[in-house]
Amino acid sequence: MNQIAQHLLQVKERIAQAAGQAGRNAESIPLLAVSKTKPIEAIMAAHAAGQRRFGESYAQEAATKIDTLRQQEGYADIEWHFIGPLQSNKSRLVAERFDWVQSVDRDKLIERLNNQRPATMAPLNVCLQINISGESSKSGTSEQEIFQLAERVAQCERLVLRGLMAIPEHTSDETVLAAQMTRMQALFTELARQYPSVDTLSMGMTEDLELAIAHGSTMVRVGTAIFGARDYS
Ligand SMILES: *Cc1c(COP(=O)(O)O)cnc(C)c1O
Repeated sequence: MNQIAQHLLQVKERIAQAAGQAGRNAESIPLLAVSKTKPIEAIMAAHAAGQRRFGESYAQEAATKIDTLRQQEGYADIEWHFIGPLQSNKSRLVAERFDWVQSVDRDKLIERLNNQRPATMAPLNVCLQINISGESSKSGTSEQEIFQLAERVAQCERLVLRGLMAIPEHTSDETVLAAQMTRMQALFTELARQYPSVDTLSMGMTEDLELAIAHGSTMVRVGTAIFGARDYS
């Protein structure tokens, strides 16, 4: 078995353990394999091991990878999630290729993605990214703005509002982390109450996926534990 396949098994085992401890079904917590900065061969290896959901963070890099894989046989079943900060002038690259965008955080982006989503494709699944730690270095909208943005997405014909995404603070202080995740869970519950299409709380990465699952995460985004450390970002 190749190393990536082995890592995938280990991550799935972590998800299963955490789900069990939280009294949840692991099947209800899909794994997004974050392949940003990694070569196409790494995606192919994960795909060969059965992985079907992939996350990318850089629009141009991702577009090249997706286009390359779509020209080859056997990769049409990949579900692509855009999870990085998205500049407005790159939105078309994403609207024309991805199945999901999890990093939507402003009106202008909502408008552009809706206008640019090709009519031949299924509507684009959207998560609103919340800057739950309030760090100025992080993208994402404030907690106050979520419901306004959600209504905008809900009114767009070419978009489907699926839920919320967050990158909690990178800290070893589990109390701080748990408090941020608790707020995310409450916001998600309220949003799901208002919009029947909302079913996704995207939260948890290599370092904090257990805590995220304990706080109701319905999708974990894991890069390092599957593909190894990245050279940049
Ligand atoms: C890079 C990235 C991840 C994966 O992080 P790891 O710590 O490598 O698991 C998850 N979510 C987002 C938004 C990312 O940019």
